[in-house]
Amino acid sequence: MDLRNCPRCGRIFADNGTHRICSDCRHQEEDDYEKVKAFLWDNPRSTIGKVHEETGVSEDTIIKFIRENRLITEGLEIKASLKCQRCGTTISHGRFCQKCQDELVDGFSDTGKEKKSKKKKKSGSDMYIKDRIKERKENK
Ligand SMILES: [Zn+2]
Ligand SMILES: [Zn+2]
Repeated sequence: MDLRNCPRCGRIFADNGTHRICSDCRHQEEDDYEKVKAFLWDNPRSTIGKVHEETGVSEDTIIKFIRENRLITEGLEIKASLKCQRCGTTISHGRFCQKCQDELVDGFSDTGKEKKSKKKKKSGSDMYIKDRIKERKENK
């Protein structure tokens, strides 16, 4: 447990490693989330600006909810143009675009880095099959 400043309100609090903000702000955020949720139920696919205007919830907080995929998992869509945190492509929710997500998942799997750099250049199916055969040999 570390003592740190809450990024939202600046107060010092004990960070248990999961929430990253103080408990007051966490409650505040839950309230905000409920507001955003209720608004989106009635006004699906509103823009971030609109939601902010109507609910008073800060755009940063709304974006945080989108990044955490909290709204989309409840079937609530919001019109947003976020940037993929890896390549900068415009996305509507989450942290990464589909392509980067796939690549990141690959990156996390067994063969790690080598595979990633190999795959980068070509995504044709031929290449892919060759890669797989090669990998099979390497793994022996
Ligand atoms: Zn706080
Ligand atoms: Zn991307």
